[in-house]
Amino acid sequence: MTVSSPCVGEGQGRVLIIGASGFIGEFIAQASLDSGRTTFLLVRSLDKGAIPSKSKTINSLHDKGAILIHQGVIEDQEFVEGILKDHKIDIVISAVGGANILNQLTIVKAIKAVGTIKRFLPSEFGHDVDRANPVEPGLAMYKEKRMVRRLIEESGVPYTYICCNSIASWPYYDNTHPSEVIPPLDHFQIYGDGTVKAYFVDGSDIGKFTMKVVDDIRTLNKSVHFRPSCNFLNMNELSSLWEKKIGYMLPRLTVTEDDLLAAAAENIIPQSIVASFTHDIFIKGCQVNFSIDGPNEVEVSNLYPDETFRTMDECFDDFVMKMDRWN
Ligand code: NDP
Repeated sequence: MTVSSPCVGEGQGRVLIIGASGFIGEFIAQASLDSGRTTFLLVRSLDKGAIPSKSKTINSLHDKGAILIHQGVIEDQEFVEGILKDHKIDIVISAVGGANILNQLTIVKAIKAVGTIKRFLPSEFGHDVDRANPVEPGLAMYKEKRMVRRLIEESGVPYTYICCNSIASWPYYDNTHPSEVIPPLDHFQIYGDGTVKAYFVDGSDIGKFTMKVVDDIRTLNKSVHFRPSCNFLNMNELSSLWEKKIGYMLPRLTVTEDDLLAAAAENIIPQSIVASFTHDIFIKGCQVNFSIDGPNEVEVSNLYPDETFRTMDECFDDFVMKMDRWN
């Protein structure tokens, strides 16, 4: 495929976001609008039967200026090609959920066929899936993300992979999703000896830095790793930080490596996927057991040294405020 120029002018590209009603997609759509870019959202379901919170998210993004496209699905290549051409899209960002990773193969084929897209960001937003090797069933999702990567690379589609590590929330191993949970109020579950560190990134920063890299020539065909030094914490440190916020100590219970492996082996989807990722992060150290020095990878703080990340301390304040609102 020939692409005229791999980059658009900074802040100028017309952006299509797929999955904006989702957890990560909403942060990205918000950041795209904040950056002043013309932002299109491909919305699968805004009709009857849609989940009210998703409709609320989409309506709110629409009120802020997002343009909605909701006449089709990404599995229809012709439809996707039409959108890309009709709306003169420059940048495509996908944030489809873990169950829909392979649906993106059609997006890649459409981008290749159209030949004018300057950058594609597939739904990654976690670990470097070529490096990390969680146990099953998490591995199955990584294998799908790897398949999407390989098709992108074979097709010559210009890409950036966002490896933003952990979302800034309490890393429960037995919850399916971090979106609606607050940190513990009765006891902590500590993985192993609680000393393996991880990087935590606030959702708004995932959005902010994603939108910075989309038209940065330095991130073309590269993996961008998020390693904010201010949010490099292990379970013991995270627990102490939360205790300071709530003003009292909580008992600590150990969840062993065997406990996590047993929860993963139960193969209950999606909980067991979360257990396998938790094992990979807090037992095997998958976020920290390599250095970022390959020719196709960059660290986001090195790219934008003057930009700050919200700290885990600030993120925990958000949870305290949320609790106050509930009481
Ligand atoms: P969600 O399930 O919250 O949202 C998925 C979105 O994709 C929804 O808007 C959904 O639309 C849309 N979608 C799914 N399939 C299609 C389709 N075929 N056509 C059009 N739209 C579709 O996903 P998450 O935000 O949880 O996950 C997004 C990515 O982020 C994943 O790669 C996941 O692994 C990663 N992630 C990383 C985390 C971290 O801690 N680093 C935490 C959570 C996720 P609809 O509203 O119609 O269902």
